[in-house]
Amino acid sequence: MNTKEGLVRKAPEGLGPEEMEEINRYTRRTYQPEEVYAFSLVLCDNEVDRDNERFAVESLEALKELFLGKTCIFDHERKSANQTARIYRTGLERVPEKTTQAGEELVRLTARAYLPRTSGSQEVIELIESGILKEVSVSCSVKRKVCSACGRESCQHEKGKLYGGKPAHWVLLEPTDAYECSFVAVPAQRGAGVVKRFGAGGLDKLLEGPPQEVLLTKSQTREIGKRFRELRQQALWGQAYRRELEAGALRYSAIVQPAMPRAVMESAVKGLALEELREMEKTYRQMAQKALPLAPQLAPRRQEGEPENGQFII
Ligand SMILES: [Zn+2]
Repeated sequence: MNTKEGLVRKAPEGLGPEEMEEINRYTRRTYQPEEVYAFSLVLCDNEVDRDNERFAVESLEALKELFLGKTCIFDHERKSANQTARIYRTGLERVPEKTTQAGEELVRLTARAYLPRTSGSQEVIELIESGILKEVSVSCSVKRKVCSACGRESCQHEKGKLYGGKPAHWVLLEPTDAYECSFVAVPAQRGAGVVKRFGAGGLDKLLEGPPQEVLLTKSQTREIGKRFRELRQQALWGQAYRRELEAGALRYSAIVQPAMPRAVMESAVKGLALEELREMEKTYRQMAQKALPLAPQLAPRRQEGEPENGQFII
């Protein structure tokens, strides 16, 4: 699933008969212009984004159809009718004066959405009008993504790095589905573009990328908490493995080099990276086994369930 950011635009002035007809395709009874509130959105475009991905223009064409009739929700926690707008029109907007990083003419996927004017939706309408609700997060699935530099689905090109003067990125192709879009309330003083939605599987990317402000939903906070506890558990295993290696290196080195003061070896092993420590433990163990081939207690001490080559992430 690809999650992208979009923007709300100034609400269209009045609703003409043509637009009301489009809206009324989605309603059970015929609504009058004064009964609905409509607004414009930019759902996404073909510019390379911060995930080093972009939609191909033909993907935007496909999304144009897929987003028709989809809902926009304002509040993930309370999915009431008052908190939902529906997309009734989509279009592609070409902006010839703007060129994307990939050297193409900028193309935007735009949409119009409506919600009924009720006492319950008044607050949301106010929030849109006042610019508090201005960013949307849209999600869709694509069948494939290919490298912009070589056109392959997997390759060695590092995304974001320049090749032939152009940054390599993923081109998202063949959208298969579009999901509801959701509004994210952005405090007015924050400039557009500083807020990044934390999408599915985005935590690693978020932690590795440059510092940025992030808005999180409750479920995302829970997900981060869960992930943190998992990592903490893995870190404990990693520490236990390291202590085991340190103890082994000290034990075997004492056999191989009995003259070496223990304190010197202790501070030496403390300063080693895990990889180096593993090499040292192995070398001393092999040397010790050569020196004392019959001593069974020199077999490597490994606890049950412990990985052979310690694949610890931390
Ligand atoms: Zn490539």
